[in-house]
Amino acid sequence: QAKSAGRKTRRFFDASMQHQADRRLLVHNELRNALCERELILHYQPQHMVDGGDLIGVEALIRWQPVGRSLVFPAEFIPIAEETDLIVDIGNWVLHEACSQYVAWQEAGIHIPQVSVNVSAKQFHASDFVDRVHMVLFQTGMDPSCLNLEITESVVLGHAEDTISKMTELKALGISFAIDDFGAGYSSLSYLKRLPANELKIDRSFIQEIPKDGDNMAIVEAVIAMARHMGFNVTAEGVESRQQLEFLKAQGCCFYQGYLSSKPLPVPYLEKYVRRVARSGQADGKNSHERA
Ligand code: C2E
Ligand code: MG
Ligand code: MG
Ligand code: MG
Repeated sequence: QAKSAGRKTRRFFDASMQHQADRRLLVHNELRNALCERELILHYQPQHMVDGGDLIGVEALIRWQPVGRSLVFPAEFIPIAEETDLIVDIGNWVLHEACSQYVAWQEAGIHIPQVSVNVSAKQFHASDFVDRVHMVLFQTGMDPSCLNLEITESVVLGHAEDTISKMTELKALGISFAIDDFGAGYSSLSYLKRLPANELKIDRSFIQEIPKDGDNMAIVEAVIAMARHMGFNVTAEGVESRQQLEFLKAQGCCFYQGYLSSKPLPVPYLEKYVRRVARSGQADGKNSHERA
């Protein structure tokens, strides 16, 4: 009886796997199309000083806006794109789009200190990644010292030498690097020591539930202390409350981003936000608009 139940479970499992595979293929094909049809867009989330609230930059975050349907968030399609080289094309598009948007802001007198762009492992390790970056800088006129690239620990995993040499080459141009989602993946402190990154971004999961979760507070406190000793700037991701901000301030965290100041915004809303912050001199926490 156990055997037949096992077989049934197996068959059910196979069917759902097939269904999932079909769905992934469908999304993959739609996504390739979306890239050509210009259905991919970038929203930008403001990043601020913990102390004083100055705007220090924005992070470009991709969204998919299929015609006549609601906005699709990256959790639903980036993992699928990452299964194939489609992520490389998407990533290259994001880099080009974020840089040309940044240059347009500069030309319009909208002052934002830097733009951060997420780079996935496959994109970073593509043999022509450094050339790609050079090309985008050239084509858009982007100032490399205003470009920050975010990579996760998974980029480093198993490719430490390639990662360090590419980072070093790009850093020589003036580009800066952040280690994204720090603590959420397979962290290796021995690699961290060797990585020429400028910044660590503490994963949102550790900021959540502060101050209710004492363990999270201990982790965040330790990561901030370690990062500071190692000469990294620290950004806290996912800051949603005043209390969290106060805690981070007491721990000496430099930067934060999160719904407390703003959700990621479509370009026109971001521009309004930047103007408002420039007038008042700090994050106002009144902007929670993300169009669906
Ligand atoms: P990430 O790079 O760690 O980006 C931060 C994510 O946290 C964003 O989700 C942002 O909307 C969300 N977030 C920020 N503050 C808060 C907060 O206070 N509360 C909550 N609940 N969430 C907050 P999003 O935009 O959905 O992006 C998710 C992930 O998708 C990103 O995580 C990044 O790993 C990936 N991603 C987004 N855009 C790109 C891209 O252009 N290229 C690549 N390769 N990956 C991207
Ligand atoms: Mg990021
Ligand atoms: Mg910089
Ligand atoms: Mg992150």
